[in-house]
Amino acid sequence: MRLTIDAGKCTGHARCWETAPDVFDIDDHGYALPLDREVHEPLDEAVRAGIAACPERAISVH
Ligand code: SF4
Repeated sequence: MRLTIDAGKCTGHARCWETAPDVFDIDDHGYALPLDREVHEPLDEAVRAGIAACPERAISVH
């Protein structure tokens, strides 16, 4: 499974990075940097927390 960020939905809240800085990274304006990372079930606590923290639902696992 892949963890990705939809740049078209990201509006730069930086909440993913604030919640899980080991998983997510942001640019100087608070937008999440592109991410395409392999993840496995059950998801890490940090991954789940970062997904839940995004108000735009820009982070997905598929
Ligand atoms: S929390 Fe969501 S909208 Fe905010 S920077 Fe992260 S991916 Fe983008």
